[in-house]
Amino acid sequence: MEMPANTVKNDIEDFLKDTGFEATIGLEVHCELKTATKLWCSCKNSFGNEPNTLVCPVCLGLPGSLPVLNKRAVEYAIRIGLALNCTVQNSIFHRKNYFYPDMPKDFQISQYDIPINADGYVTLPDGGSVGIVRAHIEEDTGKSTHFSASGRIHESSATLIDYNRAGIPLVEIVSAPDITSSEMAKAYVTELRNIIVATGATDGKMEEGSMRVDANVSVKRIQDSELGTRCEIKNLNSLRSLGKAINYEIKRQVDNILSGQKVVQQTRHFNEDLNQTVTLRTKEEAEDYRYFPEPDLVPLNPGAAWIEQIKAEMPPLLIERRRMVQDLMRETQEIDQLQSAIAILVDLNLDSVFKQTVGIGANPTIALKRLTNEAANAVEAARNLNPEQFAKLIQLETDNKISTTQSKTILSKMLENPDKTLDILISELNIVSFGEAETTALVEQLIKDKPDEFERFKQGDDKVTQFFIGQIMRLSKGQANGKLVTEILMKKRNQF
Ligand SMILES: [Zn+2]
Repeated sequence: MEMPANTVKNDIEDFLKDTGFEATIGLEVHCELKTATKLWCSCKNSFGNEPNTLVCPVCLGLPGSLPVLNKRAVEYAIRIGLALNCTVQNSIFHRKNYFYPDMPKDFQISQYDIPINADGYVTLPDGGSVGIVRAHIEEDTGKSTHFSASGRIHESSATLIDYNRAGIPLVEIVSAPDITSSEMAKAYVTELRNIIVATGATDGKMEEGSMRVDANVSVKRIQDSELGTRCEIKNLNSLRSLGKAINYEIKRQVDNILSGQKVVQQTRHFNEDLNQTVTLRTKEEAEDYRYFPEPDLVPLNPGAAWIEQIKAEMPPLLIERRRMVQDLMRETQEIDQLQSAIAILVDLNLDSVFKQTVGIGANPTIALKRLTNEAANAVEAARNLNPEQFAKLIQLETDNKISTTQSKTILSKMLENPDKTLDILISELNIVSFGEAETTALVEQLIKDKPDEFERFKQGDDKVTQFFIGQIMRLSKGQANGKLVTEILMKKRNQF
């Protein structure tokens, strides 16, 4: 029987507890760099073009062609390293030798024992931490399309190869095996993605394949000190697949051991439709690749001065941008409950408009809520909001001159009509201000009209409050501010 999705997590946790096992997970994340051209040649780095139109002798691996390293790719790799708290070091390139049709040179230029970035970490939103072993530069391969229902090679009648992707610069980020569950893996990939996208080096689009995740999963009995045999699940291209593949793999390996079999070191593929991992090939060891230093490239020594310059010119790190928003909200009582909204604000790139709006004097909590809820549906327009007009709108709401509902209505119009001022929008929408004076007048009229109900209200019948609010909303055609109505009613009760 299919389990409902929200029970799966506890399901695996309970399963591990019952069987006395624990899982160890390390992730390898490949991300394409947003350079204009490829890593070794001047072919365009672009997604979604006619197959085999962005190619040249270098990225087709034709004899006699030589690679020339793309400086911007190195800069982006260094940005990623710095953002992941790595040591940026002198490094060299290696040839990783294997035959595959989508790799025309029969080797991939990568980095092996001396990567450009080493020994970093990512701090997770819950305070946990995942070590980064390395983040190295390598080239992408071409793309094979197998013609079969499953899209897999051994059932296909033909395979087409598109070399447009061959030679696109990648950074491969290898985590330490610090991850213990599928939930933690998803939290890590989400945070990692946000961090590296904020550096401007990559767009992190999993659905377009510009970010791909391989998961190394092993299990062991809790009391054992040695790690179990691991299996690598290749090319997970969504957080959902990542979570499901890890959970499946944990259960498969524990079941294997409990039934007296051994876990065999393998590379596996996650079949989305069957919701299970299947064998791709028995795992190669590093020595199978016959790594040797790339003779056509000199060692990569970026130099301290250039690294400093890259650091100085880098867009602010995600963590710094969150801190800046937190600083602007330090007077706010409920800041602890607003942390996830702050993260969303920064991920949506709305922190700049937030900063300007609050800088003019707008209430930061209201600005944050509007930007991460209503404005998040029109994020492009929201980034271009006029901070002065937006701040004025928030001020009206803060002063109880308009209700929250009215404020949201105006904001959605403001996003659709960036050239119209707040005053024009208010008159076009027929927004009537029900401030303290207008609302008090309405309440007093109602008390006069409904003396019996008001008597009951005074005696403490709170149900009548709802009745009064309903009446006022009707009289104001839905434009009165419910909170203000309640306040004034309470005041009146104490007066009479
Ligand atoms: Zn090329």
